[in-house]
Amino acid sequence: AEEVLRNSEKLSVAGQLAAGIAHEIRNPMTAIKGFIQLMNRDKEFSSRLKYFDIILKEISRIELIISELLILAKPQDVRVTQADITSLIEEVAVLLQTQAILNNVTIETEFENNAQLIFCEKNQIKQVCINFIKNAIEAMPKGGLLRIKVSNVNDKGINIQFIDQGFGIPSNLLKKLGEPFYTTKEKGTGLGFMVSKKIIENHGGSLTVQSEENKGTTVEVFLPLQRSSEVDTNTHNLMEN
Ligand code: ADP
Ligand code: MG
Repeated sequence: AEEVLRNSEKLSVAGQLAAGIAHEIRNPMTAIKGFIQLMNRDKEFSSRLKYFDIILKEISRIELIISELLILAKPQDVRVTQADITSLIEEVAVLLQTQAILNNVTIETEFENNAQLIFCEKNQIKQVCINFIKNAIEAMPKGGLLRIKVSNVNDKGINIQFIDQGFGIPSNLLKKLGEPFYTTKEKGTGLGFMVSKKIIENHGGSLTVQSEENKGTTVEVFLPLQRSSEVDTNTHNLMEN
């Protein structure tokens, strides 16, 4: 069963604006980047201008922010299908394996069922898993164990738990999670949590975070098995709340 959701007319003004700005900035940005790279290769320029590295680094940063915003700004690509969440998680874990190894992090998966079908927009749910796994790895600079557990919730849905042994989140900062641009990282965008939360809510699911400083963090995602008629994987309400 595959279904293509049409461009939503429910896009909030803020959401439309964010999507539009992201699209509009990307093209001139690509042109600027190209010319800077050309100038960098030109000896006459590169000997006189010593700031190419900084310029290119900042452009990469803008590209990263735009691509995170665009995840929610592409309603035309939205396809809700029945997908096996356990193989989706295995795929994502393989994708992030090198990053985990480089950080001395072991990823362990624990699935109650071998296959677990849910109705979802596969790429969006992948993005959610990538976000939470990356955050977990980044929270364990000295390495550690990341457990990903998938279990049933009655016949209603599934729980995906991302359990890390990282430095945790102080309780007074828990409420900041999901605020756009809230980050404690030098190279962070502070958009991963907001985008993930929005995606999960648009699937009719929910997100909870438990954390203890210097012990670790558990991020728990609930996703319903059935896609209710209310579910809307489009981008309305982006940037609201
Ligand atoms: P980013 O990763 O770019 O900083 P996120 O929205 O993904 O943005 O996360 C926001 C902030 O939440 C992070 O900067 C970090 O302070 C905190 N955070 C998220 N996940 C974890 C985690 N597993 N352990 C500790 N802190 C976390
Ligand atoms: Mg992140």
